[in-house]
Amino acid sequence: MVSNITSNVLLIRERIARAAEAAGRSPEEICLVAVTKNRTPEEIREALAAGITDIGENRVQEALAKVEAVGRGCRWHMIGTLQTNKVRAALGFADLIHSLDRPELALAIDREARRAGRTVPVLIQVNVSGEATKHGVAPEGLRALVEQASALETLEVQGLMTIAPLAGPDVVRPVFARLRRLAEEVASWQLPRVEMRWLSMGMSGDFELAIAEGANLVRIGTAIFGPRPG
Ligand SMILES: *Cc1c(COP(=O)(O)O)cnc(C)c1O
Repeated sequence: MVSNITSNVLLIRERIARAAEAAGRSPEEICLVAVTKNRTPEEIREALAAGITDIGENRVQEALAKVEAVGRGCRWHMIGTLQTNKVRAALGFADLIHSLDRPELALAIDREARRAGRTVPVLIQVNVSGEATKHGVAPEGLRALVEQASALETLEVQGLMTIAPLAGPDVVRPVFARLRRLAEEVASWQLPRVEMRWLSMGMSGDFELAIAEGANLVRIGTAIFGPRPG
């Protein structure tokens, strides 16, 4: 019997491939991050057995417990809001932090990175839609934050991330298009330690639109694991 998780992973890969091809892109350039908040280590193992290579978690404590349970045989992504007092713990598990959104957080990451003697790859989270409930730097504040991060030698800015509103395609697609244009703008500044390699956008309900607009990192939870418990 093929489990739901396994067949869902295959199905999502097919949909990613179709969306990529429709956009004239290669499916191989798109990284699928399986989002495992509120999922058990057993479910994560099943996803890994189905070929998942990247796992996304929102909460540091929960992520640490899961890394402990399933090991480091995959890449771990910190995709949730990060408090400055959790930065040290986050650096302990995350291969990529998607949620740098404010100057104090950049400073806290720099401080902990120096302490650990390493550099830290980050994405800048942008609140493109301007919804009050969403984290992320406003597009107007992006330049100042990128310049600050660029000046911190431990930070490697590797791209941008956004969360689209829960809305129809006519609202969502322009949000993704805007993030892509912002990334082009950032790239044109040619700042040290800033490269726009990743566009992290698209979730279960909207990843095909995101791919149409250039996403190469999609974060998918419920379409792989089913509705979230609780
Ligand atoms: C939960 C979450 C996702 C995945 O959402 P689904 O709709 O379950 O695919 C993606 N990104 C972030 C930041 C999340 O918190």
